Amino acid sequence: MNDDLRALIRTIPDYPKPGVQFRDITTLLLDGPGFAACIDRMAAAVGPAPDLIAAIEARGFIFGAALAQRLGCGLVLLRKQNKLPGRVTGINYALEYGQDRIEMHSDAVTPGARLLLVDDLIATGGTAMAGAQLLQSAGAIVTSAAFVIDLPDLGGAARLRAAGVAVSALLAFEGE
Ligand code: AMP
Repeated sequence: MNDDLRALIRTIPDYPKPGVQFRDITTLLLDGPGFAACIDRMAAAVGPAPDLIAAIEARGFIFGAALAQRLGCGLVLLRKQNKLPGRVTGINYALEYGQDRIEMHSDAVTPGARLLLVDDLIATGGTAMAGAQLLQSAGAIVTSAAFVIDLPDLGGAARLRAAGVAVSALLAFEGE
């Protein structure tokens, strides 16, 4: 399934560090029909449009923005620290070594709004879980999350599902 899209993802071994197989979506973006098919299939997988899409910096912006256009809904940006100009609310989350932080504008989300979270790839789920918690802290309901790629062996999709979020991904790369 979606083997045509799988063929457009380039794998770069040992990037950004030894042992990581980096799944590079820039080669998918270079292919017009492939990128369009990717967005069409993500739209079909998520079903009815949410109130808003929340996209995770940076590659999540590409797919989140295109999907928001396709579904006719708005877009909220979950950004790295100190990038947004207005008043922000943020959340720290653990990385393998150290910490990271994502932020959004405090007034971006109306309590009770139904949100779809979007990123290019889910691995351990740390980033997506932080995004979901940030949105929930603002009163949003994170009903679902959509990714181009899932690395199921790293357990992120299962973590999100256990937290009550419906997860869709077009492609799975097993064994890592
Ligand atoms: P995680 O928080 O572990 O689920 O990691 C997901 C985030 O890291 C996403 O924003 C991805 O873009 C990026 N990422 C993690 N692992 C990879 C990988 N093997 N190839 C490409 N991007 C990755």
